[in-house]
Amino acid sequence: MEIAENLRAIQNRIDASCARVNRDPASVTLLAVSKGQPPAAILAAVDAGLTLFGESKVQEAKVKISLCPGHLRWQMIGHLQSNKCRDAVHLFQMIQSVDSLSLAQEIDKFSRASAKTMPILLEVNVAGEASKFGFPPERLLAELEKINALERIEIHGLMTIAPWAAEVEKVRPFFRRLRELRSECEQILGAPLPHLSMGMSGDFEVAIEEGSTMVRVGTAIFGERQSYKKSMET
Ligand SMILES: *Cc1c(COP(=O)(O)O)cnc(C)c1O
Repeated sequence: MEIAENLRAIQNRIDASCARVNRDPASVTLLAVSKGQPPAAILAAVDAGLTLFGESKVQEAKVKISLCPGHLRWQMIGHLQSNKCRDAVHLFQMIQSVDSLSLAQEIDKFSRASAKTMPILLEVNVAGEASKFGFPPERLLAELEKINALERIEIHGLMTIAPWAAEVEKVRPFFRRLRELRSECEQILGAPLPHLSMGMSGDFEVAIEEGSTMVRVGTAIFGERQSYKKSMET
């Protein structure tokens, strides 16, 4: 019940953000970030109409996905270690958190082994924060063609996590920069990159105004997260 209400409120905010910049609300995908949430909460979200979920840890996702209905779609949004790539390729329909060439190569290798092509987003550390993963923008541009040459991955766009700021307007330049970087990447590749994954519970409205096509929303849908261990219990 509560999740359904939260969802309605979020959809209203998405609609209003789109209206401010003349965008079609259908151009914004809502990814429900279920990390730290028990399967029961995910099932409640499914009842409220959600089918697309984001997880940030392979081990946690593996357990929860096995307990949830088979028609749900899952995307990886957390830092991926190369020794988890094999599982990640099986569990996820998209990996949003590709933050190095070597990781892209590992995903390519395991995708080939399972006769798949994996859609990915390239994560960019736009603000250059030491605490965050992601390509520095210059490295992204320098390595983009090498990544694109990997046969078993498909680059669908860029992802970023904005720095925390008490005033949400302060993060607008980082979202704008990601959009500009996407254009630079499109020029290098000579092909469109449809996705800009940016915006979370605290800043998705500004992200939408700056062109986000996918907002990753956790606490605004589910409420506070539990610990990793607790989230494994139903
Ligand atoms: C946790 C997380 C989110 C969701 O954060 P909320 O503030 O709960 O909406 C989005 N993106 C990534 C990469 C995350 O790790």
